[in-house]
Amino acid sequence: MILQTRITKIYRGMPITISLIVIFLLLNQCSCDHKNLISVENPKIKLDLSSRTGALIDFIDLEDSSAFQDRNSPSFSPWEIEIADSSGIQTLEIKDAARFRHWKPNDTTLILEWDRFRNKKARKLSVKSYIVIGTNNSMSSWRISLNGTGGIIVNKVAFPRIKVSRAEGDEYLAVPEWMGQIIKNPRDYLSSFKANPKKFEWSYPGPLSMQCVALYTPGKRGLYAACNDTMAFRKNLAFTLDTSGYLIYQLNNFPELETGSDIYEPSYSAIIGSFKGDWLTAAEIYREWGTKQKWSRESRFAKGQIPEWLEKTALWIWNRGRSSNVLVPAAELQKRIDLPVSVFWHWWHGCSYDDGFPEYIPPREGKKSFISAMESAHGKGINAIVYMNQALWGTTTESWKKEGAERFAAKDSKGKTLTHVFNIFTGKPTAYMCMATQFWKDKYSNLCDSAVNIYKANGVYMDMACLNTMCFDKSHGHPVGGGNYHIRNFSMMTDLIRSKIKDKENLVLAGEGAGEVWLPYLDLFLTLAVSKERYAGPDAWETIPFFQAVYHQYSITYGNYSSLLVPPYDELWPKEFAPEVPLKMLDKKFNRQFLMEQARSFAWGLQPAISNYRDFLASERNEEIEYILNLAKVRNMGLQYLLKGKFMRTPEFEIPVQEFDISRLSIYAGKMGESVTSFKGTYPIIYTGTWKSDNKNLGITLASISDDPFKISFTCTAAEYELPAAGNIYVINSSGRKYLSSYSDNKISVEFTLKPREICIIEIIPETQYKQM
Ligand SMILES: [Zn+2]
Repeated sequence: MILQTRITKIYRGMPITISLIVIFLLLNQCSCDHKNLISVENPKIKLDLSSRTGALIDFIDLEDSSAFQDRNSPSFSPWEIEIADSSGIQTLEIKDAARFRHWKPNDTTLILEWDRFRNKKARKLSVKSYIVIGTNNSMSSWRISLNGTGGIIVNKVAFPRIKVSRAEGDEYLAVPEWMGQIIKNPRDYLSSFKANPKKFEWSYPGPLSMQCVALYTPGKRGLYAACNDTMAFRKNLAFTLDTSGYLIYQLNNFPELETGSDIYEPSYSAIIGSFKGDWLTAAEIYREWGTKQKWSRESRFAKGQIPEWLEKTALWIWNRGRSSNVLVPAAELQKRIDLPVSVFWHWWHGCSYDDGFPEYIPPREGKKSFISAMESAHGKGINAIVYMNQALWGTTTESWKKEGAERFAAKDSKGKTLTHVFNIFTGKPTAYMCMATQFWKDKYSNLCDSAVNIYKANGVYMDMACLNTMCFDKSHGHPVGGGNYHIRNFSMMTDLIRSKIKDKENLVLAGEGAGEVWLPYLDLFLTLAVSKERYAGPDAWETIPFFQAVYHQYSITYGNYSSLLVPPYDELWPKEFAPEVPLKMLDKKFNRQFLMEQARSFAWGLQPAISNYRDFLASERNEEIEYILNLAKVRNMGLQYLLKGKFMRTPEFEIPVQEFDISRLSIYAGKMGESVTSFKGTYPIIYTGTWKSDNKNLGITLASISDDPFKISFTCTAAEYELPAAGNIYVINSSGRKYLSSYSDNKISVEFTLKPREICIIEIIPETQYKQM
């Protein structure tokens, strides 16, 4: 991402007026002693560090003179090192080093070194950091190297740490937590936290699907922070609010422990940069790098390794229980839509959900019934993937004892088995299995073998796949603590599964969440955040298609918790908590929430899904079912955009918002007679996305959830989408494809009235392509 090249002095080659402005601004901004500064700079950015301590004093964006580092903290340590021993954890920082030295081997590089630590354990330690800037971009790369780590346990290395001041105006923090989310004024939100420290922290690879974050104020410069790790090493990205209102960004690196090595030197750099724009600008910066990496080149979708039936799936049905509750409604829905419907199947298994894993087989309805239902569904062209958790083993199951599973479960740093109680009805815990053990890979791949080869599933939904467990069990034979052994072993696991499947070409392995490092291993990614309010309630974080904006051409995402019914209750859970009326209809006041969830998934390029579908909904909730059927049909006519297109910025036009009712009810919300939790929320009533196809056509998706017509009016230039200057504009909607208007002289102008709840794709077809058609 960062090109290492010659620095250009800011005054050289710049117009005199700009140079004077820059000098003026620098003099006015800088209150510290210039003699004590060491700097690197290019025409875009200038980094000033203290020559006495190595602390970052300023990160100046020279284009508008803004700076985002707190310049009043000349001793703010750019790193913190946690050393663990029997007495606990000690943290080292720059003030603990008696000596600091620095070098500038070339114009773009600073080398900083701290050593002679006062801490007895760290006497031999020296810490070096390398800061490199590009010739002409606003990014800098930061690397760290620890020497003399032999004999000490380095638990965590926080580097870099940047203290970010606040610009005037509303501030936004965009984070690729799986699909992606954004929060307005994160400092205000964090200040309301009771716990200390007040912080956000996400781990990668795992909840962070990509290794980047963006903190910005619209119209001003913002912080772009990322990593260029191609090996999937475990790390956390964090923001902490300090008592003065500064946000401290830091990258927490977790070394492999007890390697016997005297050096810890991550193979990757942190990227710290300045950018102007919004979350999509940050996504575009990241995309430049991410789509050139190995996981993009080797993505199963990009390599054409995805089964045809998956690409052709027009609609997913996510139902639970016996085949009569799952495959029968799927066949009815497929008949209704006359397009391929695929099945995402929970609670097919013999064990109770979330505590009886992995005793999946035989299915709860029995072997014969299950196989016969599956074969009948296949006869109708319906494919089904079945749920199996790829991490958990119930610690109260018979198999846990009988198979001695505890030995192969992940352990924490104190040697304790990592467990969690997910099932609030039974309170029975499950343990996290260690992916790096052959035992677990064998166990899970054998389960997949049975589910697919014997029970005729078309694939497996590997729950909790896009997560990463740190394990400290030395007997497992992997490096303990941090490292990248989890992902390396996940790759071996999927290879092992595929090696056991007879019909490999039609096998789908799906995972929960999304993650760039899983692109070569999984065919399909569940990005449920389009329906986040339904399982998490509304909060300050808003869902954005961050992952799709970067990797849509390299991944198929799907799924939606969107339902018109109260979710079902597992028949194998305790009877006393079961709802009196199963599959109760949700109040009609939540119908607009259903439409919103569906509209998001259409506009943002997911394969659509409906949860808890039953045939009576087609008459009882006719408008909502029609909505999703239309949506799937329109999408099916625009697969060049919505399956294979590249995410682009949507031309600007005003989108109204409306307040409506939001329900929250997950499968666990019904305990002790709790009913649906209801909220009011204000959301847009039009959802949009813009997609560029391989053959350079543009598709702008529009999905209205309004009861009123809405006039769309926008202009843009062909050049901003790198399209030829003239062409035609079409509309694809449920009636088919119609000519709307043409454009010329590089100016695209679209006037179109969306009918109530209309779903369409505005197609911009440049003339060269049009003539070929
Ligand atoms: Zn382990």
